[in-house]
Amino acid sequence: MSSLRFNVVEDAFKKKAATVAAPAERPDKYFGKYVFNREKMLEFLPQAVYSKLTDAIDHGTPLSRDVADQVAAGMKQWALSLGVTHYTHWFQPLTEGTAEKHDSFIEPDGKGGMIEEFSGKLLVQQEPDASSFPNGGIRNTFEARGYSAWDPSSPVFVVDDTLCIPTVFIAYTGESLDYKAPLLRALRAVDKAAVDVCHYFNPEVKKVVAYLGWEQEYFLVDEGLYAARPDLLLTGRTLMGHEASKNQQLEDHYFGAIPQRVMAFMKDLEIQALQLGVPVKTRHNEVAPNQFELAPIFEECNLAVDHNMLIMALMRNVARNHGFRVLLHEKPFKGVNGSGKHNNWSLGTDTGILLMAPGKTATDNLRFITFIVNTLMAVYHHDGLLKASIMSATNAHRLGANEAPPAIISSFLGKTLTGVLEHLETSRLEDLVSLGQKSELKLDIPQIPELLIDNTDRNRTSPFAFTGNRFEFRAVGSEANCAGAMIALNAAVAHQLTLFKQEVDGLIAAGEEKNTAILTVVRRYIKECKPICFDGNGYSEEWKQMARERGLDCETSCPLIFDNYLTEGSVAMFEATGVMTRKELAARNEVKWEMYTKKIQIEARVLGDLAMNHIIPVATKYQTELIDNVYKMQSIFPAEKAAHMSARNLELIEQIANHTSFIKEHVDAMVEARKVANRELSERKKAIAYHDNIAPMLEEIRYHIDKLELIVDDRMWTLPKYRELLFVR
Ligand code: ADP
Ligand code: MG
Repeated sequence: MSSLRFNVVEDAFKKKAATVAAPAERPDKYFGKYVFNREKMLEFLPQAVYSKLTDAIDHGTPLSRDVADQVAAGMKQWALSLGVTHYTHWFQPLTEGTAEKHDSFIEPDGKGGMIEEFSGKLLVQQEPDASSFPNGGIRNTFEARGYSAWDPSSPVFVVDDTLCIPTVFIAYTGESLDYKAPLLRALRAVDKAAVDVCHYFNPEVKKVVAYLGWEQEYFLVDEGLYAARPDLLLTGRTLMGHEASKNQQLEDHYFGAIPQRVMAFMKDLEIQALQLGVPVKTRHNEVAPNQFELAPIFEECNLAVDHNMLIMALMRNVARNHGFRVLLHEKPFKGVNGSGKHNNWSLGTDTGILLMAPGKTATDNLRFITFIVNTLMAVYHHDGLLKASIMSATNAHRLGANEAPPAIISSFLGKTLTGVLEHLETSRLEDLVSLGQKSELKLDIPQIPELLIDNTDRNRTSPFAFTGNRFEFRAVGSEANCAGAMIALNAAVAHQLTLFKQEVDGLIAAGEEKNTAILTVVRRYIKECKPICFDGNGYSEEWKQMARERGLDCETSCPLIFDNYLTEGSVAMFEATGVMTRKELAARNEVKWEMYTKKIQIEARVLGDLAMNHIIPVATKYQTELIDNVYKMQSIFPAEKAAHMSARNLELIEQIANHTSFIKEHVDAMVEARKVANRELSERKKAIAYHDNIAPMLEEIRYHIDKLELIVDDRMWTLPKYRELLFVR
C-alpha cells in the first residue's frame, strides 16, 4: 500500500547533485546580461534618446510617444540579438506572484508575409484583457477595464524567449489594481518629504532614495516526496505530520555545510539571478533542516521589489531542474522554524549620505537622530497598519508563534542609540545647543561610533530592529510581495516627515534658531514614541502584557488586523501622501479578506479529503489487522492468556477508533461550518468566520491525524513523514 512512499524516499536518496556548468566568464562579465541596462541603452539607443530615457528614469520626466517609439526600436533590436520572439507586460496583481501575457513581435506585413514589430505604443501601454485579477469590485469587467503601463524606472529584461516589461496595473478610472502603482507613489512621497527635511542639514540634496535589501528564506523538498504530499502540492504547507524525533533541537543546520544537491541548485540560481541583474551575494543554511536563505546587495526599493518577485519565480523554475520543489510558504512544517523575508530598509541621498547612519560631526548626528526618531514616530503611529501590511493567512502561522516576529510591532534600538536618545531627552535644551567662542554653533550630541553596525546586539525577537545604518523589518512573510510592507512603511515615514517639517518650520517662523527648533521637536518625539521602543524579549508573556498597557496593537486575528488599513488615521495618511484613496484602500481590503477566506477554504477541503480517503482508510486497515490478531490469539491460546497478550492491541484498536471517529465527526462539522460561513455576504465577515470557526478545526483534526501517524504501522502510512520531507535530500 505504501510502496509509493518508500519508492519516493529511496529515489530521493539516490539522487546525485546535478552538475552546473559555470559560465565561461567571471560574474562581472555576465552580470545583467539579460537586462536592458544603461550599458545596453547606450549601445542600442541614439544618444538623444538615451538622455531622455535616463532623465525619465532618474527624475520621472514624461517621455513623448516619439521617444517611446525609438526606445522600443532599440529594445527590440537588443532583444532580437538574444533570440527573443515575444514580449510581455510584467505586473504584480494583488494575488501573490506576477502576471504576464505574452505576445509575439510578428505582425502582417500587408503582402501576405510577416514582419517583427515593436512600437512605443506596445511598450507603453497594454490591456491585459480577458484576465480577471482580484480588484475588490473596482474593476467591473463590463464597466471599466484595467491597463498596464510601463515603469521605466525598472529595466526591461529577458527570460527565455520573452522580453519582460515591468508595468503598473491600473483601472481606467485611475485606481491601482496592483502593488507597484502605490509603491511608486509612496516612494515619490518619501523622496519629497525627506528631501525637504534634508534641507535643514544640506541644501544640496535633490533626491532621497528608499533602499531595500531583502533576505529570502525558503525550504527545499525533493520533488518525489513533494508529489506524494497532496497538502504540500495544493496548499504549500503540510496540513498534517507528526514532528520528527529530531528536527532543529541541535541547531546543527544553521550555517552548516550546504548539501551538494542544494549547492548545485544555489549555484545555478545565482548564475541566472546575476544574469538577470539581481545582485545576489549571500547564501546559507537557515535554522531548520532543509531551510536556506538568499540575500542580494540592497538596491533602490522599487527595483529591489521587482528583483524579489523575479527571484521567487526563478527559484521555482531552477528548483525543478534540480529535482526539488521550493517552498516559499511561511510555515510549511509545524514545530519547525518558519520562513520570513527580512526587509532591510533605509533612506539615502543623491549626495551619498545614508540617512539612517550616524556621521562624524554633531550636525551629521542631529540629522541621523532626526530621521531615526521620525521613523520611530511613524512606526508608533501606524503600528497596526504595519502589522496589517505583512499579515496574510499564511504569515499568520508565523506571527506570534514564538518565532520572529511576535504579533506586536515594536522597535529594537540597542544600548548605544537608546543612550543617545536618553541624553537628548534628559539634557537641558540650552546645554544641547549653544554658541561657541567664535559664535559657531555647538551641538552636544554624543559621539556615535560608526562601528555601531557591529555593536548592535542582534535581537532576533524584534519585528523592526535598528541594525546600525538601517531598520530591519523582520515580520514580512517569505511568500509576500515586499511591496505591501514597503508601501505602508515609506508612506508612513513620508507623512511623519511632513508633519515634522511643519512643526519645525512653525518654530523657526516664530523666531527660533533652526537647530533648537529641530531639537525641540525631536525631544518631544523621543518622549512620545517611547511605547514603541522595546529591547527585551519579544516572545515573552510579560511583553504581551506590557505592550497592551503601552497601548500598542496586540490583535492577533488576521481579518481584524486588516481593519487597520481603514482606520481614520491610515486613510488620512494614505490620502495626504497621495499613495492611496479611501476607495482604493477599501477595494484592496475586500481582496485581502477574500484571499484569506479562499486560502483557509482550500486548506479545509484538502484536509477533509486527505482525512477521509487517506488517513481513515489506512488507520482502519491497520486496525483490522490488529483485530485479526486478537481473534487469532484467542484461537491458539487459552482465553485468559490470550486476553493478557492482546491487551496492548485492544488498547490500540480502541485508540484508533477514537481518533478516527473524532476525525470523521469534525470533518463533517467543518463542512457544515463552511456552509454557514459561505452564506455571509460581507467578505470581512466571511473571513472572520473562517478565522474564528474553521481555522481552529484544522488544528484539532490534525492533532488526531498526527496521533494516528504514531500508532499505525510505518509500512502502511502512505504520506511521506516529516523525517523524510525534512532530512532526505
Ligand atoms: P544579516 O546579518 O541580517 O543577515 P546581511 O549583512 O546579510 O544581514 O544584510 C542583509 C541585507 O541588508 C542585505 O541585503 C544588505 O545588502 C542589506 N543592507 C545593508 N545595508 C543596508 C542599508 N543601509 N539599507 C538597506 N539595506 C541594507
Ligand atoms: Mg537580517
